[in-house]
Amino acid sequence: MGQEVVLIVEDNEMNQLLLCDALVAQGYRVLVSLSAEEGLAIAHREQPDLILMDIGLPGMDGIAALRRLKANPATRGIPVIAVTASAMRSERKEILAAGFDGYQAKPISVRDLWTEVRGIFDHRTGERRPKREDEA
Ligand code: MN
Repeated sequence: MGQEVVLIVEDNEMNQLLLCDALVAQGYRVLVSLSAEEGLAIAHREQPDLILMDIGLPGMDGIAALRRLKANPATRGIPVIAVTASAMRSERKEILAAGFDGYQAKPISVRDLWTEVRGIFDHRTGERRPKREDEA
């Protein structure tokens, strides 16, 4: 079974470390970026299986970054989970309406994060099953 690669775009080093440790502990390979601009470049080049996107970032914010990812055929298919301190209902609504595939509120719950990440990969595995049987 291939090792899934997760790109973390997060400018807060404490949160970046927490997300990184939580994902590595579950066996995922992790790439990290401190800005949306760099994150977009890494996503394009490395084609991660999932992106965790902070909303509040220096320069381009996470919502603008998501729009660019979804507008580019090379990155459109990569699921993106928003990670944000914006727990207010109106902001959560705006974030999900922007097209994110999931949402994690800060402070991060490692258990909730694992559940959501696993859910996204289980879904993808299901979609890919016929191809895997052909390869086996
Ligand atoms: Mn931030």
